[in-house]
Amino acid sequence: MRLLVRPWIGTLPLMIRINVPNLGKEELEAVVSVLESGYMTQGPKATEFENAIGNYISGSPGIATSSATTALHLILETLGIGPGDEVIIPDFTFPATGNAIVQSGATPVIIDVNLDTFNLNPQNLEQAISPRTKAIIPVHVFGLCADVDAIRKVVAKFHPIFIIEDAACALGSKYFGRSAGTLGDFACFSFHPRKVITTGEGGMLMFRNNEFKSRARQLSTHGGGKTSQTDPYLLFSINGFNYRLSDINAAIGIEQLKKIDRILDNKFKLAQFYIQRLRNNEDISFQVVPEGYVHNFQSLVIKLKNGIDRDWVIRQLFDFGIESTLGTYSLSLQPAFQKWISFATPVGQSLHHSTLTLPLFEGLTFENIEYICNKLESILRNHSAFLER
Ligand SMILES: *Cc1c(COP(=O)(O)O)cnc(C)c1O
Repeated sequence: MRLLVRPWIGTLPLMIRINVPNLGKEELEAVVSVLESGYMTQGPKATEFENAIGNYISGSPGIATSSATTALHLILETLGIGPGDEVIIPDFTFPATGNAIVQSGATPVIIDVNLDTFNLNPQNLEQAISPRTKAIIPVHVFGLCADVDAIRKVVAKFHPIFIIEDAACALGSKYFGRSAGTLGDFACFSFHPRKVITTGEGGMLMFRNNEFKSRARQLSTHGGGKTSQTDPYLLFSINGFNYRLSDINAAIGIEQLKKIDRILDNKFKLAQFYIQRLRNNEDISFQVVPEGYVHNFQSLVIKLKNGIDRDWVIRQLFDFGIESTLGTYSLSLQPAFQKWISFATPVGQSLHHSTLTLPLFEGLTFENIEYICNKLESILRNHSAFLER
């Protein structure tokens, strides 16, 4: 139970959190051994982690980065995408997807999503493509893969446009047998503590082929490189960044990845329990997982029926010791994205207001879920009384 306690909420003895990463003595020992090695920046552990993630998704090794956001920015810079270029993204996503584009100097083009899957709706894509479109970043929201084949089909009618998966949430998810992270030309993963495995902060940039990889690597580490192995120091031929992941973080990731099958298996069972338990409640619907998709349930997100005050529900759950939050954000509702709005996004905006993330992590019990569902259902029953006040 120790892990369920949120220590900084002093007045509540017990809080069921949205997510609690499963970190144990393996991670602790791995960190200690990095500290003892004296080698703490990007080194042998980062390389090992890059290979391990590549193997896990049956793809090629990635480039470990300080976050998924820096991985996204890194690939845009690597491809030379900048001022005057456009990059298409879904409205319903964590704002980092859009921020990476803004940081590159390019223009985010925000399009609406699908009400059932919460993912980019390929039917909205064609109208948004212009001669300036350089890339599309489909987001696998909450871990459920976007319909990448449908996106590719639309894109194929135009000039070459890169597909960059925002797979921040989607490690372990599948799309017709293929792993998230191998579906586009490039992909990013996140190892933030809210994702399925964590390194504290961290990310990785994945490549379908290695054409741009050495440039991305060079940009990720100040733009320096060696022309031959015997060079005594670096030559800086481009202006780069410091987007490296440290070996301390990578060592945690290596141990976390060894546990991923068990973590995903547990999350899947717990998610199914929620779905069975709440499936007949008319106020609630779930993210639809189409045939052929495997959802990793990074987050369990429900949609409340129109008219229910979701923020009120969050506050009521909190009073019962249950942490919850919105699903994710509608970019078009954020002040920082106002100047880039060119299409109506009613679905993304409605999901911003109607979705609710419930606790889901390895270590949550069926009894916890029964408690959460009982409280949620009684809160929803009381909602009409609340409206009448
Ligand atoms: C978490 C998340 C990110 C950002 O990941 P960081 O590693 O924290 O930079 C980006 N996109 C989506 C969809 C996310 O959920």
